[in-house]
Parts: sequence; structure tokens; C-alpha cells
Amino acid sequence: MDKLLIIVIDGCSSDYISKENTPNFYRIAKSGFCKCAKSSIPSVTNVNHATILSGKFPYEHGIVGNYYYNKETGKQDFIENSGFIKTDTIFDVLHRKGAKTALLAVNANIMEVFGRNVDFSISVQKPNEILVRFLDMEMPPKVGTLKASGWILEACHNLIKKNNPDVVYCTTSDYMMHNFAPNTNEAITHMQEIDKWIGKIYDLDPKREIYITADHGMNKKSKIVNLQAIMDRMKYEVVCHPPIKDRYIENHVYQEGGVLYLYFKEAAKDKKDEIIKFIEEYPCVESVCTKEEAAKKYNLPMDKIGDYVVFAGEDYAFGELDGEELETDCIRTHGSLYERAIPLIAVNAREEAAKYRYSRDIVRIILEKIES
Ligand SMILES: [Zn+2]
Repeated sequence: MDKLLIIVIDGCSSDYISKENTPNFYRIAKSGFCKCAKSSIPSVTNVNHATILSGKFPYEHGIVGNYYYNKETGKQDFIENSGFIKTDTIFDVLHRKGAKTALLAVNANIMEVFGRNVDFSISVQKPNEILVRFLDMEMPPKVGTLKASGWILEACHNLIKKNNPDVVYCTTSDYMMHNFAPNTNEAITHMQEIDKWIGKIYDLDPKREIYITADHGMNKKSKIVNLQAIMDRMKYEVVCHPPIKDRYIENHVYQEGGVLYLYFKEAAKDKKDEIIKFIEEYPCVESVCTKEEAAKKYNLPMDKIGDYVVFAGEDYAFGELDGEELETDCIRTHGSLYERAIPLIAVNAREEAAKYRYSRDIVRIILEKIES
């Protein structure tokens, strides 16, 4: 079986990659290719891990956020188990064929959601001491630190060297990208560390099939808007559900992100046109789609995205604030249509670069070739 490695650098927009800071990315691309591809919408972490791992769009795999809304109970909660993903992942398919699989991540919830049929898993957040020792490593640093990404990539390197599983999926956390713009010293050091380990991994076996990509991009935002508070003030009975919401609030203090699913309560249904006009005309809003339009345009499952999907403009995000609006110069986040562009670097890929338009194409092509 050919050895496969997928590295997902969380929140790595292309502007973090440069000849000076990530020379190994360029070295690998020289033997393969480097291009800009598209993530799934919304440009949120879990949605895109599901897309990359399954080779499918959200309408097929069923994951539309880190957080979900249960229409029957009115409860909102975090997605934290593998029951949410509706299709096979590359782990499921290749495990059935006898492959050894491995999942390495900074955040432990990745294991909970995507760890089905994984033979070896390790996270920075909840490390298993026996496995850490097996990998000849010190116990990991904290999740929200500069060193967390380097640690998980070193673990990936050591695992491949010692055990060489057939399928390895390794992902970082977007803590650094949320907090540091590409030209800051912290971001440069972080990317240099990632690049160093990716170079070492590549050198272990230059024939390995390797894809390096991101789940979504990242942009600076100048204003956060609390659309729920605005709806409440207007007495519009609408639930504004943020699919980006996660437990790691150090990443988004206000759970801020560029997308909301709007659930209309019974009382709001008569005023539907008035409410939608109001939201569309609100500054900071890029577009509002019906669930039917959003499902068609962005390959989403119609029954999981509310009645409407609203996207923020490039410079803005929706968030849970005390007031209605917050001007800021220190918030970087994602979720909107503007964080859809992602880098894709591949070596020993199954197809030429032009065949990879979306991040889902990596695994889609592998699975098609296995099945044919
Ligand atoms: Zn992410």
C-alpha cells in the first residue's frame, strides 16, 4: 500500500507561506505542485476536517460547524463525537482494507469527532504518556502556545520513522493564526518551526504521497457585530446560530466568525421579508441566502443550516458581545466567504494540479482510484 500523509495547518492562509520562512514548502512543491484551492463553506475547522478526511462536501458528510442547533429542543451544543459524520472517512475505507491509520492533532476534540477507525492517535491537549514515551518525546507544551504545532509535527515525524503507518493525518491548531498576523515575529517563528519538521518528514521518504493544506484561511477584522442582540432589540424572534463556536475561547474570545445560521421562530415567520431586508441592509453584512440557495451554491445540507445563512463582509465578523458592535484592531478570524482560499502543496499526488480545485479533491481522488 502506498504511504499517505495529509498535513492540515489550521488557519494557514497563503500569506503565511514565503520562500524565506517556509523554504521546505517550496522544495517539496518543486517535486510536486503548489496551488491555491478552495475550502468548504463555511470556512470553519470541523467542516473542513470532515471535507478533507471524507473527500466529500458538507451535504454528504453532514458536518456544518463546530457547534449545532437542535430545532426540536432549541438547544445549541458542541459537536464532540463521531456520530455527526455521515460518510466514510479515508480512515474508515483504508482501515477496512487492512491499512494502519494515524491521527495526530493539537486539539483533543479532533480525536473525538474524527477518530473512528484510527489505530494510533495522539493530541497535544490530552497526551497519552505511554505514547509520548514511545515517540521519544517530552510531554507536550500547552495548546495555546507557539510550540504546540512544532510538537505535533515532531510527533508525526517520529511516528513515521518508528512505525510508518499507511495513512497519517496531522493537524495543528489555529491559535497562532488567530493571534498573529503573517509578518509578526511570532508567526514567522511558528511557520519556520512547522517548515523545519515538514522538511524532515519529507526527507524520511521522498516517495511518500504528501499533501500540505489548510482547513480555512484567516483575516483581520475591524468590527464585530452582535446580530443576536440586534434581532432581540428589534423584537425579531430569530436565533442567530454561530457554527464557528468552540470551547477554545482563547481563539475567539467573542466566538466571532464570518457566518451565522438563522433559525426563524414561529412568531418571526410573518415578518420574514421585513427581517431579511433589515439584515441585508445592515452594514457589515455581505449576503443573506435562503437555505435552498445556500445548499445549492455551497454544497450544504438544507436541513442543518437554519432558514437562512448570513455571511459577513471581508472586514467584519459576527460575535457574542455585551453590546451590539465592537470596533477592533486585534481580531483575526474566519468563517466567511473571504477565508475560503487555502494553499495546497502536494508531492507524489495521484493527479495533476488542475484536478485539485477543492480541498475535498485530495481524498476524493484517492477513493475513486481505490474503487475503480
Ligand atoms: Zn481551523
